[in-house]
Formats: sequence, structure tokens, C-alpha cells
Amino acid sequence: MKVRTRFAPSPTGYLHIGGARTALFSWLYARKHGGDFVLRIEDTDLARSNAESVNAILEGMNWLGLEYDEGPFYQTQRFDRYKEVIQQLLDTGHAYYCYCTKEELDVMRDQQMAIKAKPRYDGRCRLRTEPREGVSPVIRFRNPTEGITVVDDMVRGRVTFQNTELDDLIIARSDGTPTYNLTVVVDDWDMQITHVIRGDDHLNNTPRQINILKALGVEPPRYAHLPMILGPDGTKLSKRHGAVSVMQYRDDGYLPQALLNYLVRLGWSHGDQEIFSLDELIELFDIADVNHSASAINPEKLLWLNQHYIKTQTPDYVARQLSWHMGQRDVDPSTPPPLRDVVEVLRDRAKTLVEMADQSVYFFKDFDVYDEKAAQKNLTPDALPVLQALHAALGALGEWTPEQVHESVTGVSERLQVKLGKVAQPLRVAVTGGSVSPSIDQTLTLIGRERTLSRIQQAAEWIASKKV
Ligand code: GLU
Repeated sequence: MKVRTRFAPSPTGYLHIGGARTALFSWLYARKHGGDFVLRIEDTDLARSNAESVNAILEGMNWLGLEYDEGPFYQTQRFDRYKEVIQQLLDTGHAYYCYCTKEELDVMRDQQMAIKAKPRYDGRCRLRTEPREGVSPVIRFRNPTEGITVVDDMVRGRVTFQNTELDDLIIARSDGTPTYNLTVVVDDWDMQITHVIRGDDHLNNTPRQINILKALGVEPPRYAHLPMILGPDGTKLSKRHGAVSVMQYRDDGYLPQALLNYLVRLGWSHGDQEIFSLDELIELFDIADVNHSASAINPEKLLWLNQHYIKTQTPDYVARQLSWHMGQRDVDPSTPPPLRDVVEVLRDRAKTLVEMADQSVYFFKDFDVYDEKAAQKNLTPDALPVLQALHAALGALGEWTPEQVHESVTGVSERLQVKLGKVAQPLRVAVTGGSVSPSIDQTLTLIGRERTLSRIQQAAEWIASKKV
């Protein structure tokens, strides 16, 4: 049997990190077993679903690199099929029309509450043979009234439900549209899903889904319900704990690789290992090792992982991710210097790609304001002859390499008998606009000769203009 897993988000917002973790576990399980991973968009709630959210999900999956083998399938394109299955359930007596009005259901609930019984539909339309004039009925599933339904969960173990606890759920609304439990069942069946891996907020739906599958004569898939992700304070994860949308993590400068590594550890562990390559994850991941209890997010750990991956991933990988951030800063990353070279000089100095991008704008873009403090301290009248000498020396260089630049700068320091710092620092402010950058040789090499010379010139003019 070929393993087939799926990720089945409802497009009602962004891709949440909880959803991304579910997707990652399903993806890993499929990859580990040489199976297929299916993406299904559960967009039947027309009031809450929208195209923008679908795009946000696709963008998030793509950014994380969780490629799917089939899909995306859209439930809104499968209404005919759901109708067919609902009809099949009606024809076989596993479903029935229910004409109860809202008022009747309210009374039923109040009576049950009054005797402290669990509110549930009492099945009164089960035996009805005649339609009720003027009422568009819903369709309910005829749930077994005795016995138990066992969910043999791959994370939770055996979870038993009394069938009497599961009332006759609505599978089609009065306008004929199918409900969540019905569409999921039909899709998991049609898409031949073998392992349903999802959040444990769905555990209570599972016995209902199993009963519907059984009524259809279908062997249910295996289920694995993942524990919740909590905020650092142990409460349900929400926006007040920081970013919850996957794309927000991109915007905040995280590498997808770091986020994946971080997400996998929310609920899964392998000894005390923290860092996993994707290949390692595919090899080591097992649903059986998923924790039973909820896990809390830990933003410091994510930052630590991000820094680790910025330092250790190939410069090309980091550059591809950095490229987006440069675009956000109106930099065309295809113009020189090569972004991978920028990554190489900055990778030890940045914890996020936002920091890295902010630190590298001057490699690409000219500026006409200086950091005030840096300019006050370094672009002084004393620096004017230094900058002029640098302009001449650097302008005369045969080659523009770190070694040549280095020699030229130290040469100026020796000739003018000015300490190297008094040469390099005004130069740095002149060419970067601020007082912090990688080594002056690397900085100048990346900025390039022409830009370096014109920026030195600009700084000299700036100093001269202050003199008068
Ligand atoms: N569409 C459901 C959700 O987003 C998931 C359904 C499932 O995984 O069975 O919560």
C-alpha cells in the first residue's frame, strides 16, 4: 500500500504556523515512506473563504518548500461528487431528511439542559416518512445508536467514543451544501488517503468520520492527531505572542530552512538533537515519536536556528532568500555586486535577513545623507586631505581586489602618517554612510571602484561645504 497523506487547510486567512507544522509532518511522513503528499483546499465555507487566502496558503507552502505531488484540489469544484455520496447515504438508509425548525431544536436543547443532559439532536426525524410543507430540510447522518467507535490514533493511542455520544450530524445544509465532516470523508476516500495527520482539535470529528466511512463500506485511513502549539506563556497561541503567519516569518527575515527545523521540534524530537537537515528529517521522522502533550513556541530558539542557517547554508541559498528582501528595499538584486558575495561578508554579522538586507543596501544604492554621529566624528576637516589622498590612490589602482585595496589604504596611512583607523573610518563613512561595515577591503571591493570614487568625492565635497 502506497502511503498517501494530505494537508487540508481552510482558506480563511493566512497560513498559520500550526497549519504549517501539520503540513510539514504530513509531508515528512509521505516523503519518508516514498508516498504522495496531496494538497486540498477546503473552501466550502463560501462566506469565510477567499482567493487571497488560497494564495497565501500556496505562497506559504511554496516558500517553505513543501511541494505536493497532487493538487491543489478545491472542494468547491467537487460539489457534484458530494451530492452523489449524500444521495448514496440516503438511498442506503444511512442518512435522512430532518425538518426540525430552529425553534424546535432550541426547545429540545433547553429541555436537555434542564435535566443536565448533554445537548444533542434526539433523532426525531429518523422515522419521519412525510416531508413537512414549507420547510427545506437538512440531511443528517444516521449515526449508530449503540456500541463504540475506536480511534486507534498514531499519536494518542486508542481513544474510545460511545456512539450514543455522537448525535446525528448534519451532512447537508438546507440549501443542499455539504458540511465539513462529509466533504472530508468523501475526499479522504476519493483521494485514497492512507494517513490523516492533523491537529487534535479534530479528534472529536474523527469517530463521526469513521462512522460515515463505514456506512459507505470504506475502510477508514489511519489517524494521527498532533498536539496543540501554545504561546511561551502556556496559553493558546495567538497574535499577541508574535508572528503566527508563515509569511510574516519570511518578512521578519527568517530562512525557510530555519522555520522548518523549528516547526519540526514543536511536538517531535529525536534525542536532544536540535539541528536537522531535510534529508535527516526525512530519515529520522516518525509519527510514533510525536509528543502527546502540547508544545510551546520559543522565539529565541528560532532566532538561534536562523543565525545557524544563515552562517552554514550555502551562500547561494541564503542569497536567493535575501533577494526578496532587497527587492523590498528597491534594490534590483541582479545588479552588481553578486548577492552571494554580499552574503559571504555579512553572514557572521546578521541574525536575520532583515538585518542583512538593511546592512547591505549601500552596496547597491547611492545615498546623500550620512549617519549624523558618524559624519560628525569622522567627516571632519582633518579627514579632507585623507579622502583626497585615498581618491588619488584608489583611482590609480590597476586591479580592484581586496589585496590591492588594502595595500592602497595602508599606503595612504603611511604616507600621510595618519593612524590606519583615521584613514579607514572616514573612508567607511564616506562609502557606506555609517560607521559599521565589514572590513574596509571587503566593503570597497563589493561597492566597486566607480561608486567608491564618487562617494569619496561626495564626502569631500560635503566636508568642504561645511567649512564655509
Ligand atoms: N480544513 C480543516 C482545517 O483547516 C482540516 C480538516 C482536516 O485536516 O481533516 O482545520
